[in-house]
Amino acid sequence: MEKQNKMNLGTVCIQGGWKAKKGESQVLPIYQSTTFKYETSDQMARLFDLEDEGYFYTRLANPTNDAVAKKIAKLEGGVAAICTSSGQAASMYAILNICGAGDHIVSSCNIYGGTFNLFGVTLPKLGIECTFIDSDASEEEIQKAFRPNTKALFGETISNPGLAVLDIEKFANIAHKNGVPLIIDNTFATPINCRPFEWGADIVTHSTTKYMDGHATQVGGVIVDSGNFDWMAHKDKFPGLTSPDDSYHGIIYAEKFGKMAYITKATAQLMRDMGSIPSPFNCFLLNLGLETLHLRVPRHCENALKVAKFLHDDPRIAWVNYCGLEDNKYYALAQKYLPNGSCGVISFGLKGGREESIKFMDNLDFISIVTHVADARTCVLHPASHTHRQLSDEQLREAGIAPDLIRLSVGIEDVEDIINDIKQALDKQ
Ligand SMILES: *Cc1c(COP(=O)(O)O)cnc(C)c1O
Repeated sequence: MEKQNKMNLGTVCIQGGWKAKKGESQVLPIYQSTTFKYETSDQMARLFDLEDEGYFYTRLANPTNDAVAKKIAKLEGGVAAICTSSGQAASMYAILNICGAGDHIVSSCNIYGGTFNLFGVTLPKLGIECTFIDSDASEEEIQKAFRPNTKALFGETISNPGLAVLDIEKFANIAHKNGVPLIIDNTFATPINCRPFEWGADIVTHSTTKYMDGHATQVGGVIVDSGNFDWMAHKDKFPGLTSPDDSYHGIIYAEKFGKMAYITKATAQLMRDMGSIPSPFNCFLLNLGLETLHLRVPRHCENALKVAKFLHDDPRIAWVNYCGLEDNKYYALAQKYLPNGSCGVISFGLKGGREESIKFMDNLDFISIVTHVADARTCVLHPASHTHRQLSDEQLREAGIAPDLIRLSVGIEDVEDIINDIKQALDKQ
């Protein structure tokens, strides 16, 4: 374990998490079992009391899932992680682990649509309110959203679908001045391009459905804790971690588990009571994806930059949004936080608007129309016709989505072929 901490990211992608002992499976095995056997009643009782570590029921913990969580924790430079059944479950648990009815969070408004709904519509039904702020606003402006009952600040490293780059240090400063953790959804950047803990974030979440899996085979999520947030220093704000848990014989998580408190509570309490674990088979698939993450992500970025430059220079294209382009609003922030590349997702619009964009998509050859981003295959989506179909042009603009916006997720095929497919579709317009 000591030695593994010194490994570089590419090595962690391959070697992290599972370490086979003599005669064991070299490849991470799939423990497709709900349950685990013990020899005495007392052995099992000690597990239930959190006195011994061990597996007993897969809703609480499973060796395959744990190995993958450990690998991702190492990739992010955190102390512990928990895999969830989806990215949405990861976002929900990251908040519910420290918030209850009567609490409040502050979130960037530049976030994934599902998370926007979770924070804006579903969590309020549970008594947790959210104030959305423009992530580009000044510290003073963002500060105004904080209340005495605020428990977390949330943002995305690179937002989906807006592709805004977050000033993570600015956000960390604001969060810490207010005595709350900064939670970052790092799905689009992945730890290969950005490790938010190095910029002051406290907790990181992912939809592992995207680049981490990379092949569009499983839906999953993960929560990683840096172990850096001092819950005991803000004892009154976080009673769930700093006062006795009646459902666990009065354990005080922050006292008993120290830096492991946040993830231990998420496992022992939230997973126990609400489920949302991934299947071990899905974690096995995710692990296969992680084994090549360090090879795929640079290729996605290299391809996307070439495609973005091609679109930028084509007179038929009205606008292109990609933070790797020098004239992009977020270029300077991307240079700081994502010096090796950002992600493979680009958005752009065709001159002629909505109708032209639809025609263009229908004319594509191997680039496919799917509701997905961030996997090996290049794909497109037209939010105005698909995910946001019910909205008028006016409503779309209010939601920050241009009616002509095409979201292009550049894959890892040969970039010449990707550009040729786009070219031939434009020629048919
Ligand atoms: C897709 C996505 C999610 C939701 O993840 P699911 O795995 O689809 O539940 C959350 N955040 C971001 C940034 C995403 O792209």
